[in-house]
Amino acid sequence: MERKDLADLIFPDAKEISYYEEKYPERNLPEGAIVTRFAPSPTGFVHIGGLYQGLIARKLATQTGGVFFLRIEDTDQKREVENGIVGIVESLKEFGFEPDEGMISENEGKGNYAPYKQSQRKEIYQAYAKYLIEQGKAYPCFCSPEEVEEIRTKQENAKIRPGYYGVWAKCRNVTIEEAIERIKNGEKYIIRFKSPGREDRKIKHHDVIKGNVDFPENDQDIVIIKADGLPTYHFAHAIDDHLMRTTHVIRGDEWLSSVPLHLQLFQELGFKAPKYAHIAPIMKNDEGNKRKLSKRKDPEAAVSYYAEEGIPSEAVKEYLLNIANSTFENWRRANPDKSMDEFELQLNKMSVSGALFDMIKLLDVAKIVISKMTAEEVYENAMSWAKKYDEKLALILEDKDYALKVFGIERGNSKPRKDISKWSDVKDNISYMYDEIFEKDTSEYPYQVINQKEDIKKILELYIEKYYNANDDKQTWFDKIKELAGELGYAKEVKEFKANPDMYKAHVGDVSTVLRVALTKRTNTPDMYEIMRVLGKDKMEKRFKNAIKNLDK
Ligand code: GLU
Repeated sequence: MERKDLADLIFPDAKEISYYEEKYPERNLPEGAIVTRFAPSPTGFVHIGGLYQGLIARKLATQTGGVFFLRIEDTDQKREVENGIVGIVESLKEFGFEPDEGMISENEGKGNYAPYKQSQRKEIYQAYAKYLIEQGKAYPCFCSPEEVEEIRTKQENAKIRPGYYGVWAKCRNVTIEEAIERIKNGEKYIIRFKSPGREDRKIKHHDVIKGNVDFPENDQDIVIIKADGLPTYHFAHAIDDHLMRTTHVIRGDEWLSSVPLHLQLFQELGFKAPKYAHIAPIMKNDEGNKRKLSKRKDPEAAVSYYAEEGIPSEAVKEYLLNIANSTFENWRRANPDKSMDEFELQLNKMSVSGALFDMIKLLDVAKIVISKMTAEEVYENAMSWAKKYDEKLALILEDKDYALKVFGIERGNSKPRKDISKWSDVKDNISYMYDEIFEKDTSEYPYQVINQKEDIKKILELYIEKYYNANDDKQTWFDKIKELAGELGYAKEVKEFKANPDMYKAHVGDVSTVLRVALTKRTNTPDMYEIMRVLGKDKMEKRFKNAIKNLDK
Protein backbone atom coordinates (compact mmCIF):
# COMPACT_ATOMS: atom_id res chain seq x y z
CA MET A 1 0.00 0.00 0.00
CA GLU A 2 1.18 3.46 -0.84
CA ARG A 3 0.37 6.97 0.23
CA LYS A 4 -1.53 7.36 -3.03
CA ASP A 5 -3.94 4.59 -2.00
CA LEU A 6 -4.58 6.30 1.31
CA ALA A 7 -5.13 9.64 -0.41
CA ASP A 8 -7.53 8.06 -2.94
CA LEU A 9 -9.45 6.36 -0.17
CA ILE A 10 -9.91 9.61 1.73
CA PHE A 11 -10.59 11.93 -1.20
CA PRO A 12 -11.73 9.70 -4.08
CA ASP A 13 -13.22 12.54 -6.12
CA ALA A 14 -10.62 15.23 -5.60
CA LYS A 15 -9.09 16.75 -8.72
CA GLU A 16 -5.38 17.09 -9.42
CA ILE A 17 -4.04 20.35 -8.06
CA SER A 18 -2.74 21.26 -11.52
CA TYR A 19 -6.37 21.76 -12.49
CA TYR A 20 -6.71 24.62 -10.00
CA GLU A 21 -3.28 26.03 -10.71
CA GLU A 22 -4.32 26.45 -14.34
CA LYS A 23 -7.82 27.62 -13.57
CA TYR A 24 -6.54 30.45 -11.37
CA PRO A 25 -3.47 31.78 -13.19
CA GLU A 26 -1.12 34.52 -12.09
CA ARG A 27 -2.76 37.89 -12.52
CA ASN A 28 -1.60 40.03 -15.32
CA LEU A 29 -0.95 43.28 -13.48
CA PRO A 30 1.64 46.03 -13.66
CA GLU A 31 4.74 45.71 -11.53
CA GLY A 32 4.12 46.71 -7.92
CA ALA A 33 0.35 46.22 -8.11
CA ILE A 34 -0.99 45.04 -4.78
CA VAL A 35 -3.55 42.27 -4.73
CA THR A 36 -5.16 42.13 -1.36
CA ARG A 37 -8.36 41.29 0.39
CA PHE A 38 -10.76 41.72 3.23
CA ALA A 39 -11.57 38.31 4.67
CA PRO A 40 -14.14 38.54 7.45
CA SER A 41 -16.24 35.82 8.99
CA PRO A 42 -19.97 36.40 8.59
CA THR A 43 -20.78 36.53 12.27
CA GLY A 44 -23.38 39.27 11.91
CA PHE A 45 -21.15 41.80 13.60
CA VAL A 46 -18.96 44.10 11.54
CA HIS A 47 -16.24 45.49 13.80
CA ILE A 48 -14.89 48.96 13.13
CA GLY A 49 -11.41 47.39 13.27
CA GLY A 50 -12.40 45.13 10.39
CA LEU A 51 -13.63 48.07 8.39
CA TYR A 52 -10.34 49.81 9.14
CA GLN A 53 -8.40 46.86 7.73
CA GLY A 54 -10.68 46.77 4.73
CA LEU A 55 -10.17 50.46 4.07
CA ILE A 56 -6.41 50.11 4.21
CA ALA A 57 -6.51 47.14 1.85
CA ARG A 58 -8.83 48.96 -0.55
CA LYS A 59 -6.63 52.04 -0.65
CA LEU A 60 -3.42 50.15 -1.28
CA ALA A 61 -4.96 48.16 -4.10
CA THR A 62 -6.31 51.34 -5.67
CA GLN A 63 -3.07 53.27 -5.22
CA THR A 64 -1.01 50.60 -6.96
CA GLY A 65 -3.44 49.65 -9.72
CA GLY A 66 -4.05 46.31 -8.01
CA VAL A 67 -7.08 44.34 -6.93
CA PHE A 68 -9.08 44.31 -3.72
CA PHE A 69 -11.44 41.41 -3.14
CA LEU A 70 -13.88 40.33 -0.48
CA ARG A 71 -13.51 36.74 0.69
CA ILE A 72 -15.93 35.30 3.17
CA GLU A 73 -14.38 33.00 5.73
CA ASP A 74 -17.21 30.82 6.88
CA THR A 75 -15.47 27.61 7.78
CA ASP A 76 -16.48 27.89 11.42
CA GLN A 77 -20.12 27.25 10.81
CA LYS A 78 -21.04 27.48 14.48
CA ARG A 79 -20.28 31.21 14.49
CA GLU A 80 -22.31 32.06 11.45
CA VAL A 81 -25.55 33.98 11.27
CA GLU A 82 -28.11 34.38 8.56
CA ASN A 83 -27.52 37.28 6.18
CA GLY A 84 -24.10 37.86 7.67
CA ILE A 85 -22.59 38.32 4.22
CA VAL A 86 -25.11 40.88 3.07
CA GLY A 87 -24.33 42.89 6.21
CA ILE A 88 -20.65 42.98 5.26
CA VAL A 89 -21.31 43.78 1.60
CA GLU A 90 -23.65 46.60 2.59
CA SER A 91 -21.15 48.06 5.06
CA LEU A 92 -18.44 48.21 2.42
CA LYS A 93 -20.85 49.85 0.03
CA GLU A 94 -21.96 52.36 2.61
CA PHE A 95 -18.40 53.38 3.32
CA GLY A 96 -17.63 53.62 -0.36
CA PHE A 97 -14.95 50.99 -0.72
CA GLU A 98 -16.48 48.31 -2.74
CA PRO A 99 -14.30 45.40 -3.72
CA ASP A 100 -13.28 44.72 -7.31
CA GLU A 101 -14.03 41.03 -6.86
CA GLY A 102 -15.66 38.84 -4.30
CA MET A 103 -18.95 38.09 -2.70
CA ILE A 104 -21.82 40.40 -3.58
CA SER A 105 -24.62 38.59 -1.75
CA GLU A 106 -25.09 35.52 0.43
CA ASN A 107 -24.26 33.09 -2.34
CA GLU A 108 -23.05 35.02 -5.34
CA GLY A 109 -19.67 36.39 -6.14
CA LYS A 110 -18.08 38.21 -9.04
CA GLY A 111 -14.61 37.77 -10.45
CA ASN A 112 -12.40 35.15 -12.07
CA TYR A 113 -11.02 33.69 -8.88
CA ALA A 114 -14.39 32.54 -7.56
CA PRO A 115 -15.80 31.08 -5.43
CA TYR A 116 -15.05 33.72 -2.83
CA LYS A 117 -16.83 32.00 0.02
CA GLN A 118 -14.83 29.30 1.72
CA SER A 119 -17.71 26.90 2.27
CA GLN A 120 -18.09 26.82 -1.53
CA ARG A 121 -14.43 25.86 -1.95
CA LYS A 122 -14.50 22.55 -0.14
CA GLU A 123 -13.34 20.50 -3.11
CA ILE A 124 -10.39 22.83 -3.68
CA TYR A 125 -9.12 22.41 -0.13
CA GLN A 126 -9.61 18.68 -0.36
CA ALA A 127 -7.59 18.50 -3.57
CA TYR A 128 -4.65 20.16 -1.83
CA ALA A 129 -5.08 18.06 1.30
CA LYS A 130 -4.99 14.98 -0.92
CA TYR A 131 -1.84 16.27 -2.56
CA LEU A 132 -0.18 16.73 0.83
CA ILE A 133 -1.14 13.20 1.87
CA GLU A 134 0.37 11.84 -1.33
CA GLN A 135 3.52 13.78 -0.56
CA GLY A 136 3.69 12.40 2.99
CA LYS A 137 3.09 15.93 4.33
CA ALA A 138 -0.32 15.29 5.85
CA TYR A 139 -1.99 12.34 7.48
CA PRO A 140 -5.29 11.20 8.93
CA CYS A 141 -5.51 11.54 12.69
CA PHE A 142 -7.85 9.27 14.59
CA CYS A 143 -7.53 10.91 17.98
CA SER A 144 -10.91 11.89 19.38
CA PRO A 145 -11.39 15.38 20.83
CA GLU A 146 -11.27 13.75 24.28
CA GLU A 147 -7.91 12.16 23.53
CA VAL A 148 -6.51 15.47 22.32
CA GLU A 149 -7.79 17.07 25.50
CA GLU A 150 -6.13 14.34 27.54
CA ILE A 151 -2.81 15.00 25.83
CA ARG A 152 -3.18 18.66 26.67
CA THR A 153 -3.92 17.98 30.33
CA LYS A 154 -0.88 15.75 30.59
CA GLN A 155 1.27 18.47 29.03
CA GLU A 156 -0.12 21.09 31.35
CA ASN A 157 0.48 18.96 34.41
CA ALA A 158 4.04 18.32 33.32
CA LYS A 159 4.43 22.03 32.42
CA ILE A 160 5.29 21.15 28.85
CA ARG A 161 4.42 23.23 25.80
CA PRO A 162 0.92 22.16 24.76
CA GLY A 163 -0.08 20.88 21.35
CA TYR A 164 0.00 18.05 18.88
CA TYR A 165 3.68 17.81 17.92
CA GLY A 166 6.75 15.61 18.09
CA VAL A 167 6.28 12.62 20.38
CA TRP A 168 2.81 13.81 21.28
CA ALA A 169 1.62 13.55 17.70
CA LYS A 170 0.41 9.98 18.08
CA CYS A 171 -1.12 9.46 14.68
CA ARG A 172 1.99 10.66 12.85
CA ASN A 173 3.34 7.19 13.21
CA VAL A 174 0.26 5.24 12.16
CA THR A 175 1.33 3.21 9.11
CA ILE A 176 -0.43 3.59 5.80
CA GLU A 177 -1.80 0.06 6.06
CA GLU A 178 -3.20 0.68 9.51
CA ALA A 179 -4.68 4.01 8.49
CA ILE A 180 -6.40 2.44 5.49
CA GLU A 181 -7.78 -0.35 7.64
CA ARG A 182 -9.08 1.98 10.32
CA ILE A 183 -10.77 4.18 7.76
CA LYS A 184 -12.33 1.15 6.12
CA ASN A 185 -13.57 0.08 9.56
CA GLY A 186 -15.44 3.38 9.76
CA GLU A 187 -13.26 5.07 12.36
CA LYS A 188 -13.63 8.86 12.47
CA TYR A 189 -10.66 11.02 11.56
CA ILE A 190 -9.47 14.45 10.61
CA ILE A 191 -6.49 15.49 8.48
CA ARG A 192 -3.36 16.94 10.04
CA PHE A 193 -0.38 18.66 8.50
CA LYS A 194 2.93 16.92 9.18
CA SER A 195 5.10 19.79 10.27
CA PRO A 196 8.76 19.59 9.28
CA GLY A 197 9.63 22.31 11.81
CA ARG A 198 11.66 22.33 14.99
CA GLU A 199 10.87 24.54 17.90
CA ASP A 200 14.53 25.11 18.73
CA ARG A 201 15.15 26.72 15.36
CA LYS A 202 14.29 30.31 14.60
CA ILE A 203 12.84 31.91 11.53
CA LYS A 204 13.31 35.52 10.57
CA HIS A 205 10.43 37.33 9.02
CA HIS A 206 9.90 40.83 7.70
CA ASP A 207 6.45 42.23 8.27
CA VAL A 208 5.51 45.28 6.22
CA ILE A 209 4.15 47.05 9.31
CA LYS A 210 5.86 45.40 12.26
CA GLY A 211 9.32 45.22 10.68
CA ASN A 212 11.71 42.37 11.38
CA VAL A 213 10.48 39.71 13.74
CA ASP A 214 11.99 36.41 14.97
CA PHE A 215 9.95 33.37 15.81
CA PRO A 216 10.62 29.77 16.70
CA GLU A 217 9.72 27.47 13.80
CA ASN A 218 6.33 25.86 13.86
CA ASP A 219 6.38 22.21 14.87
CA GLN A 220 2.66 21.68 15.46
CA ASP A 221 0.83 19.15 13.35
CA ILE A 222 -2.17 21.39 12.99
CA VAL A 223 -5.53 20.22 11.73
CA ILE A 224 -6.01 21.16 8.09
CA ILE A 225 -9.32 19.44 7.34
CA LYS A 226 -11.85 19.15 10.14
CA ALA A 227 -14.38 16.39 10.80
CA ASP A 228 -16.99 18.31 8.79
CA GLY A 229 -14.73 18.23 5.72
CA LEU A 230 -14.04 21.96 5.88
CA PRO A 231 -10.56 23.42 6.29
CA THR A 232 -9.22 25.31 9.28
CA TYR A 233 -8.43 29.01 8.91
CA HIS A 234 -4.72 28.32 8.47
CA PHE A 235 -5.07 25.87 5.63
CA ALA A 236 -7.74 27.88 3.85
CA HIS A 237 -5.58 31.00 4.14
CA ALA A 238 -2.66 29.31 2.39
CA ILE A 239 -4.76 27.79 -0.38
CA ASP A 240 -6.97 30.81 -0.99
CA ASP A 241 -4.33 33.49 -0.91
CA HIS A 242 -2.21 31.39 -3.23
CA LEU A 243 -4.96 30.64 -5.72
CA MET A 244 -6.42 34.13 -5.57
CA ARG A 245 -2.92 35.41 -6.20
CA THR A 246 -2.83 37.70 -3.19
CA THR A 247 0.42 39.66 -3.01
CA HIS A 248 -0.17 41.25 0.41
CA VAL A 249 -2.02 39.73 3.32
CA ILE A 250 -3.29 42.68 5.31
CA ARG A 251 -4.91 41.48 8.51
CA GLY A 252 -5.21 41.94 12.25
CA ASP A 253 -2.06 41.42 14.29
CA GLU A 254 -3.67 38.65 16.33
CA TRP A 255 -2.43 36.52 13.41
CA LEU A 256 1.20 37.64 13.62
CA SER A 257 2.18 34.69 15.79
CA SER A 258 0.76 32.32 13.18
CA VAL A 259 3.21 33.53 10.55
CA PRO A 260 5.71 30.69 11.13
CA LEU A 261 2.96 28.15 10.54
CA HIS A 262 1.66 29.99 7.50
CA LEU A 263 5.08 30.31 5.92
CA GLN A 264 5.64 26.63 6.50
CA LEU A 265 2.33 25.75 4.86
CA PHE A 266 3.19 27.88 1.82
CA GLN A 267 6.59 26.22 1.67
CA GLU A 268 5.30 22.65 1.94
CA LEU A 269 2.53 23.29 -0.56
CA GLY A 270 5.11 24.64 -2.98
CA PHE A 271 3.59 28.13 -3.04
CA LYS A 272 5.31 31.49 -3.08
CA ALA A 273 4.47 33.22 0.21
CA PRO A 274 2.74 36.61 0.11
CA LYS A 275 3.94 39.66 2.00
CA TYR A 276 2.30 40.17 5.35
CA ALA A 277 1.15 43.44 6.91
CA HIS A 278 -0.21 42.98 10.41
CA ILE A 279 -2.38 45.83 11.60
CA ALA A 280 -2.47 46.68 15.28
CA PRO A 281 -5.99 46.89 16.69
CA ILE A 282 -7.78 50.15 17.27
CA MET A 283 -7.34 51.10 20.92
CA LYS A 284 -9.45 53.03 23.34
CA ASN A 285 -8.47 55.10 26.32
CA ASP A 286 -10.51 53.66 29.17
CA GLU A 287 -9.94 55.85 32.21
CA GLY A 288 -6.24 56.08 31.56
CA ASN A 289 -5.82 52.48 30.39
CA LYS A 290 -5.19 51.75 26.76
CA ARG A 291 -7.13 48.71 25.65
CA LYS A 292 -8.61 47.21 22.49
CA LEU A 293 -11.99 48.50 21.33
CA SER A 294 -14.23 45.77 22.57
CA LYS A 295 -17.26 44.33 20.87
CA ARG A 296 -18.75 43.62 24.28
CA LYS A 297 -18.05 46.89 26.08
CA ASP A 298 -17.98 49.59 23.42
CA PRO A 299 -20.99 50.36 21.24
CA GLU A 300 -18.70 52.26 18.86
CA ALA A 301 -16.92 48.99 18.04
CA ALA A 302 -19.86 48.06 15.81
CA VAL A 303 -19.95 49.58 12.35
CA SER A 304 -23.76 49.76 12.66
CA TYR A 305 -23.34 52.25 15.52
CA TYR A 306 -22.25 55.00 13.13
CA ALA A 307 -25.29 54.62 10.92
CA GLU A 308 -27.58 54.60 13.92
CA GLU A 309 -26.02 57.74 15.37
CA GLY A 310 -26.02 59.34 11.96
CA ILE A 311 -22.30 59.96 11.76
CA PRO A 312 -21.62 60.26 8.03
CA SER A 313 -19.68 57.30 6.68
CA GLU A 314 -17.39 59.70 4.86
CA ALA A 315 -16.37 61.18 8.21
CA VAL A 316 -15.74 57.76 9.72
CA LYS A 317 -13.62 56.85 6.73
CA GLU A 318 -11.66 60.08 6.90
CA TYR A 319 -11.13 59.60 10.61
CA LEU A 320 -9.89 56.05 10.06
CA LEU A 321 -7.32 57.41 7.62
CA ASN A 322 -6.32 59.86 10.33
CA ILE A 323 -5.51 57.06 12.69
CA ALA A 324 -3.96 54.89 9.99
CA ASN A 325 -1.30 57.44 9.06
CA SER A 326 -0.38 60.32 11.31
CA THR A 327 0.71 62.21 8.19
CA PHE A 328 -2.91 62.44 7.09
CA GLU A 329 -3.64 65.36 9.37
CA ASN A 330 -0.99 67.57 7.77
CA TRP A 331 -2.02 66.47 4.33
CA ARG A 332 -5.60 67.43 5.07
CA ARG A 333 -4.53 70.81 6.39
CA ALA A 334 -2.59 71.47 3.22
CA ASN A 335 -5.38 70.13 1.00
CA PRO A 336 -8.66 71.00 2.67
CA ASP A 337 -10.71 70.56 -0.48
CA LYS A 338 -9.18 67.43 -1.97
CA SER A 339 -10.96 64.12 -1.89
CA MET A 340 -9.44 61.83 0.72
CA ASP A 341 -8.96 59.31 -2.08
CA GLU A 342 -6.03 61.39 -3.23
CA PHE A 343 -4.13 60.80 0.00
CA GLU A 344 -1.30 58.25 -0.45
CA LEU A 345 -1.49 55.78 2.38
CA GLN A 346 1.79 54.25 3.49
CA LEU A 347 1.81 50.89 5.24
CA ASN A 348 5.20 51.45 6.79
CA LYS A 349 3.90 54.58 8.50
CA MET A 350 1.22 52.69 10.39
CA SER A 351 1.34 52.49 14.13
CA VAL A 352 2.99 49.30 15.33
CA SER A 353 1.27 49.30 18.69
CA GLY A 354 -2.25 50.42 17.92
CA ALA A 355 -3.80 53.80 17.25
CA LEU A 356 -6.10 55.40 19.75
CA PHE A 357 -9.70 55.92 18.76
CA ASP A 358 -11.02 59.26 19.92
CA MET A 359 -14.73 59.88 19.47
CA ILE A 360 -14.38 63.62 20.03
CA LYS A 361 -11.90 63.86 17.20
CA LEU A 362 -14.11 61.79 14.97
CA LEU A 363 -17.02 64.14 15.66
CA ASP A 364 -14.78 67.10 14.86
CA VAL A 365 -13.94 65.51 11.54
CA ALA A 366 -17.64 64.90 10.98
CA LYS A 367 -18.41 68.55 11.66
CA ILE A 368 -16.01 69.61 8.97
CA VAL A 369 -17.30 67.00 6.53
CA ILE A 370 -20.87 68.17 7.09
CA SER A 371 -19.88 71.85 6.92
CA LYS A 372 -18.69 71.27 3.36
CA MET A 373 -22.02 69.86 2.26
CA THR A 374 -24.63 71.93 0.45
CA ALA A 375 -27.98 72.53 2.13
CA GLU A 376 -29.46 70.01 -0.29
CA GLU A 377 -26.92 67.35 0.73
CA VAL A 378 -27.50 68.04 4.41
CA TYR A 379 -31.21 67.76 3.77
CA GLU A 380 -30.96 64.46 1.89
CA ASN A 381 -28.70 62.89 4.47
CA ALA A 382 -30.68 64.10 7.46
CA MET A 383 -33.91 62.99 5.85
CA SER A 384 -32.73 59.52 4.99
CA TRP A 385 -31.35 59.09 8.51
CA ALA A 386 -34.61 60.41 9.98
CA LYS A 387 -36.73 58.03 7.93
CA LYS A 388 -34.93 55.12 9.55
CA TYR A 389 -34.28 56.37 13.04
CA ASP A 390 -36.40 59.38 13.93
CA GLU A 391 -39.92 59.70 12.58
CA LYS A 392 -40.46 63.03 14.25
CA LEU A 393 -37.52 64.57 12.48
CA ALA A 394 -38.74 63.13 9.19
CA LEU A 395 -42.06 64.88 9.78
CA ILE A 396 -40.37 68.17 10.60
CA LEU A 397 -38.35 67.97 7.42
CA GLU A 398 -41.33 67.29 5.22
CA ASP A 399 -41.51 70.91 4.08
CA LYS A 400 -38.39 70.66 2.00
CA ASP A 401 -38.31 74.27 0.80
CA TYR A 402 -38.34 75.57 4.33
CA ALA A 403 -35.84 72.96 5.52
CA LEU A 404 -33.46 73.98 2.74
CA LYS A 405 -33.65 77.56 3.95
CA VAL A 406 -32.93 76.45 7.50
CA PHE A 407 -29.98 74.31 6.43
CA GLY A 408 -28.83 77.09 4.16
CA ILE A 409 -28.14 79.40 7.09
CA GLU A 410 -24.40 80.15 7.15
CA ARG A 411 -23.66 77.52 4.57
CA GLY A 412 -21.94 77.69 1.22
CA ASN A 413 -19.69 80.58 2.27
CA SER A 414 -15.99 80.56 3.11
CA LYS A 415 -16.62 79.96 6.80
CA PRO A 416 -19.57 77.60 6.90
CA ARG A 417 -21.27 76.67 10.14
CA LYS A 418 -19.76 73.70 11.92
CA ASP A 419 -22.40 72.87 14.45
CA ILE A 420 -23.68 69.54 13.15
CA SER A 421 -21.54 66.48 13.74
CA LYS A 422 -24.17 63.82 13.25
CA TRP A 423 -27.66 63.54 11.85
CA SER A 424 -29.00 62.78 15.28
CA ASP A 425 -27.95 66.34 16.25
CA VAL A 426 -30.14 67.87 13.60
CA LYS A 427 -33.45 67.92 15.41
CA ASP A 428 -32.09 69.76 18.38
CA ASN A 429 -30.02 71.92 16.12
CA ILE A 430 -32.91 73.28 14.08
CA SER A 431 -35.89 72.82 16.40
CA TYR A 432 -36.22 76.52 17.22
CA MET A 433 -36.75 77.28 13.55
CA TYR A 434 -40.08 75.46 13.69
CA ASP A 435 -43.03 77.08 15.45
CA GLU A 436 -44.72 73.79 16.22
CA ILE A 437 -41.72 72.71 18.29
CA PHE A 438 -40.69 76.11 19.54
CA GLU A 439 -44.11 76.87 20.94
CA LYS A 440 -44.16 73.64 22.89
CA ASP A 441 -40.81 74.37 24.49
CA THR A 442 -41.54 75.17 28.12
CA SER A 443 -38.00 76.08 29.11
CA GLU A 444 -37.19 79.57 30.43
CA TYR A 445 -35.88 82.33 28.19
CA PRO A 446 -32.18 82.55 29.05
CA TYR A 447 -31.88 86.35 29.15
CA GLN A 448 -28.45 87.57 30.10
CA VAL A 449 -27.26 91.10 30.96
CA ILE A 450 -30.50 92.77 30.03
CA ASN A 451 -33.04 90.80 31.98
CA GLN A 452 -35.60 93.23 33.30
CA LYS A 453 -39.13 92.96 32.05
CA GLU A 454 -39.56 96.57 30.97
CA ASP A 455 -36.19 96.72 29.23
CA ILE A 456 -36.83 93.55 27.29
CA LYS A 457 -40.32 94.60 26.32
CA LYS A 458 -39.12 97.93 25.00
CA ILE A 459 -36.38 96.38 22.90
CA LEU A 460 -38.66 93.82 21.32
CA GLU A 461 -41.52 96.19 20.61
CA LEU A 462 -39.44 99.00 19.27
CA TYR A 463 -37.38 96.70 17.10
CA ILE A 464 -40.29 95.15 15.31
CA GLU A 465 -42.25 98.37 14.98
CA LYS A 466 -39.53 100.70 13.90
CA TYR A 467 -36.34 98.93 12.92
CA TYR A 468 -36.90 95.55 11.32
CA ASN A 469 -37.19 95.55 7.58
CA ALA A 470 -37.02 92.30 5.66
CA ASN A 471 -35.35 94.03 2.73
CA ASP A 472 -32.36 95.33 4.62
CA ASP A 473 -28.96 93.99 3.76
CA LYS A 474 -26.82 92.73 6.56
CA GLN A 475 -24.95 95.95 7.20
CA THR A 476 -28.14 98.03 7.33
CA TRP A 477 -29.74 95.41 9.54
CA PHE A 478 -26.88 95.62 11.96
CA ASP A 479 -26.74 99.41 11.89
CA LYS A 480 -30.38 99.45 12.83
CA ILE A 481 -29.78 97.32 15.89
CA LYS A 482 -27.16 99.88 16.86
CA GLU A 483 -29.65 102.65 16.41
CA LEU A 484 -32.17 100.77 18.48
CA ALA A 485 -29.56 100.38 21.20
CA GLY A 486 -28.79 104.10 21.02
CA GLU A 487 -32.42 105.11 21.15
CA LEU A 488 -32.92 103.09 24.33
CA GLY A 489 -29.80 104.42 26.01
CA TYR A 490 -27.44 101.50 25.47
CA ALA A 491 -23.95 101.89 24.06
CA LYS A 492 -24.00 101.59 20.27
CA GLU A 493 -20.48 100.16 20.24
CA VAL A 494 -18.92 97.65 22.59
CA LYS A 495 -15.74 99.75 22.55
CA GLU A 496 -17.63 102.78 23.72
CA PHE A 497 -19.20 100.79 26.51
CA LYS A 498 -15.84 99.50 27.66
CA ALA A 499 -14.42 102.99 27.72
CA ASN A 500 -17.32 104.39 29.77
CA PRO A 501 -18.91 101.51 31.63
CA ASP A 502 -20.67 103.81 34.07
CA MET A 503 -22.52 105.72 31.38
CA TYR A 504 -24.49 102.79 30.02
CA LYS A 505 -26.62 99.94 31.36
CA ALA A 506 -25.41 97.66 28.58
CA HIS A 507 -24.27 97.66 24.94
CA VAL A 508 -25.48 96.72 21.48
CA GLY A 509 -24.34 93.11 21.92
CA ASP A 510 -26.60 92.77 24.93
CA VAL A 511 -29.48 94.19 22.93
CA SER A 512 -28.80 91.61 20.22
CA THR A 513 -28.86 88.89 22.84
CA VAL A 514 -32.34 89.94 23.91
CA LEU A 515 -33.51 89.64 20.30
CA ARG A 516 -31.80 86.30 19.90
CA VAL A 517 -33.17 84.84 23.12
CA ALA A 518 -36.70 86.00 22.39
CA LEU A 519 -36.48 84.46 18.93
CA THR A 520 -34.78 81.18 19.74
CA LYS A 521 -34.52 80.72 23.53
CA ARG A 522 -30.82 80.27 22.89
CA THR A 523 -27.84 82.46 23.55
CA ASN A 524 -25.82 80.82 20.85
CA THR A 525 -27.10 80.41 17.31
CA PRO A 526 -25.85 80.79 13.78
CA ASP A 527 -26.12 84.19 12.17
CA MET A 528 -29.20 86.03 13.48
CA TYR A 529 -29.62 88.09 10.34
CA GLU A 530 -30.15 84.89 8.37
CA ILE A 531 -32.35 83.38 11.05
CA MET A 532 -34.64 86.40 10.89
CA ARG A 533 -34.82 86.24 7.12
CA VAL A 534 -35.81 82.59 7.21
CA LEU A 535 -38.38 83.04 9.97
CA GLY A 536 -39.90 86.12 8.38
CA LYS A 537 -41.50 89.11 10.04
CA ASP A 538 -44.78 87.42 10.99
CA LYS A 539 -43.16 84.62 12.88
CA MET A 540 -40.77 87.03 14.53
CA GLU A 541 -43.59 89.21 15.68
CA LYS A 542 -45.47 86.27 17.08
CA ARG A 543 -42.40 85.11 18.95
CA PHE A 544 -41.73 88.53 20.37
CA LYS A 545 -45.34 88.78 21.57
CA ASN A 546 -45.09 85.41 23.25
CA ALA A 547 -41.83 86.37 24.84
CA ILE A 548 -43.40 89.56 26.18
CA LYS A 549 -46.41 87.66 27.46
CA ASN A 550 -44.05 85.33 29.17
CA LEU A 551 -42.43 88.22 31.03
CA ASP A 552 -45.67 88.76 32.93
CA LYS A 553 -45.75 85.29 34.35
N1 GLU B 1 -11.27 35.51 8.90
C1 GLU B 1 -10.09 36.04 9.50
C2 GLU B 1 -10.50 37.06 10.53
O1 GLU B 1 -11.62 37.52 10.47
C3 GLU B 1 -9.29 36.70 8.42
C4 GLU B 1 -7.91 37.01 8.76
C5 GLU B 1 -7.20 37.30 7.44
O2 GLU B 1 -7.42 38.38 6.90
O3 GLU B 1 -6.48 36.44 6.95
O4 GLU B 1 -9.74 37.37 11.41
